[in-house]
Amino acid sequence: MPIRTCLGCRRKSEGAALWRFALDAHGVLRKDFRNRHGGRHVYCCKDAECLRKFLKNNKELTRAFRQQVLGFDEELNDLFGSVE
Ligand SMILES: [Zn+2]
Repeated sequence: MPIRTCLGCRRKSEGAALWRFALDAHGVLRKDFRNRHGGRHVYCCKDAECLRKFLKNNKELTRAFRQQVLGFDEELNDLFGSVE
């Protein structure tokens, strides 16, 4: 099992316990998205509080992806709204 770090709380967990995120071709962050073009992935606990921290930490997201995150997919917008 690969061990990944949650970008929200920085705890390490097995990859299967975390959501995986990647940017699509438009720079939009997508949950449970596998970038088939070899792009970077970041991880977050399946936890609303972690997700909130994760989505708010734009600087960290930019650093993790090495590019600007230009938006969130609809599901993330919904989740983000519900945990605010
Ligand atoms: Zn976490």
